[in-house]
Amino acid sequence: MTNQAIELLRSYDGPRFRIMEVCGTHTHEIFRQGVRNLLSPQIDLISGPGCPVCVTPVDYIDEAVMLALEHHAVICTFGDLVRIPGTKQSLAQARGNGAAVQVVYSPQDAAEYAKEHPDRQVVFLSVGFETTVPSSCIAVQNAIRWGLDNFSLLTANKTMPVAYEAMRDACDAYLYPGHVHAIIGTGLCEEMKDRGVSGVLAGFTARELVTALAVAVTKFRTGEPFFENCYPRVVKPEGNRAAVEMINRYMEPCDAQWRGLGVLPGSGLALRPEYAPFDARKKFDLPKLCGHANPACRCGDVLRGVCRPTDCKVFGTGCTPEHPVGACMVSGEGACSAWYLYGGVSL
Ligand code: SF4
Repeated sequence: MTNQAIELLRSYDGPRFRIMEVCGTHTHEIFRQGVRNLLSPQIDLISGPGCPVCVTPVDYIDEAVMLALEHHAVICTFGDLVRIPGTKQSLAQARGNGAAVQVVYSPQDAAEYAKEHPDRQVVFLSVGFETTVPSSCIAVQNAIRWGLDNFSLLTANKTMPVAYEAMRDACDAYLYPGHVHAIIGTGLCEEMKDRGVSGVLAGFTARELVTALAVAVTKFRTGEPFFENCYPRVVKPEGNRAAVEMINRYMEPCDAQWRGLGVLPGSGLALRPEYAPFDARKKFDLPKLCGHANPACRCGDVLRGVCRPTDCKVFGTGCTPEHPVGACMVSGEGACSAWYLYGGVSL
């Protein structure tokens, strides 16, 4: 199948086919494994809004900096968020100004840090899609079990359904993110097909990616909306019910701001009111902030699929992984870092 699939992708000469790899891990794996080199010029891969760090707006970084510097909370976070520029400073720069910023590998690590440091307020930066939100919920569950009153979440969690709808005109089909749908199942993809939105679910190996792209091209030729699960070894129609129940127990939908996409109603997940003591915004009575990204940065356009990273005039010059100007160059799932690291352009 793979040789046939490669030949099909190489020789495709039909109408231009725009497929959006929603997931930042797909973006990186497609580059890293050389899949782009196998595609006919008529197949256009567009990076989408599936990197949770990239779509987190500047205001959120500003809130985290405020918690660290003005409320003297210990910020526990995954490493990528530390270097995302805020309006005035990143968390890394805030650390240089006295902020306590701990890099952790899971929300559970943050809850344990809080347990070991009862004299400090500890805030975990809960940024992610359906894939990672359950682990934030488990951390809250443990904090309750341990009787902690010094642990909270600063949430910027997001869910994909509204974003798929918002982005539907940017592409002809989605390469749906395998990780997210391993949690929520395939029902949404079937509904999207019924609403005229096409896509295939893909895994992350070269074989899985090539197969999924070949299936998408074949189905696209028919002219009918389609959905195919090309990652059935991991994604089941029903998803992971235990994880979904965990999310629903602790979180509820909220409006969420996405970098580049603006506020999408009902596209976020925030703690339910009964868990307000674990909601950092409520606990510290944070004001509504209005952050500003560097005006040279086109992350918003990159995330909407309206430009490539290389269309940004500071790509590879003023903005590099060592000196990032925008979130998409910092994150290990960001489109700009993928284009930079894997030679999307000759510099
Ligand atoms: Fe933003 Fe840098 Fe990407 Fe330009 S190259 S869009 S500044 S992250």
